[in-house]
Amino acid sequence: MEIWVNMCGVPWEASVRKMNASRVKTARVSRAKGRLGKRTAADKQTIEDLVAANHILYAQSVLDGYGHVSARHDLTPDRFWLSRSTAPGLVTAGDILEFDLSGEPVDAQGRPTYAERFIHSEIYRRRPDVKAIVHSHSPAVIPFGVTSVPLKPIFHMSGFLGAGVPVFEIREIAGDTDMLIRNAGLGAALALRLGDKPAALMRGHGSLAVGISLPQAVFRAIYLEINARLQSEAMKLGSINFLTSGEAKLAATSNDIHLTRPWDLWKHEITKRNSA
Ligand SMILES: [Zn+2]
Repeated sequence: MEIWVNMCGVPWEASVRKMNASRVKTARVSRAKGRLGKRTAADKQTIEDLVAANHILYAQSVLDGYGHVSARHDLTPDRFWLSRSTAPGLVTAGDILEFDLSGEPVDAQGRPTYAERFIHSEIYRRRPDVKAIVHSHSPAVIPFGVTSVPLKPIFHMSGFLGAGVPVFEIREIAGDTDMLIRNAGLGAALALRLGDKPAALMRGHGSLAVGISLPQAVFRAIYLEINARLQSEAMKLGSINFLTSGEAKLAATSNDIHLTRPWDLWKHEITKRNSA
């Protein structure tokens, strides 16, 4: 049998094996370094977008001093990025921490974390399609979590609601609580209630919106609130002619194609606002 050798006289197969082993070792070391704080260009872009998402949602009155938005890690799907505990409108890149799917920070350096981080960890654990999550206490959706009136798509911008909007009842799981998702068990129950839907309401507390990207999750969180406001207004006028499920599906697909348009505008507005 003919054995190929490289320029150093080492058999070809052994040489390739050695080279691959060296590549794997380098990748492992760089991944370990990444986890210990050295951030890649992709990480930096995600973090920059996550900071923008915090400011956009604050500017759009979806988040106030409370609520949070996260993004799944680009290369390590069992990790996600979320700010330390601080008001969303004040978040900077230095506040963004890396978390694992148990909801614990990889290295918080003594900084406090959000009590409700388990919303994010448990949804990422169960929904591989989800790359970003917004948890909000925005006011217009609250009435739809505490009454039997379902939140439904009233106009094309909220077509994604046509998939249905489940309501999470924390009392069924834990009796009397302070309403917060303070542990992995409550996070898991909430993720289960969300199922495969793009949004859910939390009775007497708030809502969540998920997406396959930060722009999509931010878009959904904003239009969830707008739809709730419009639906409450329309209910005062009479019975509502909602989008059919076919219309809702087509509108949602159309909106997803043009997501960069509002995202670029929102980013531009907050950049202008932050530099003023
Ligand atoms: Zn909350």
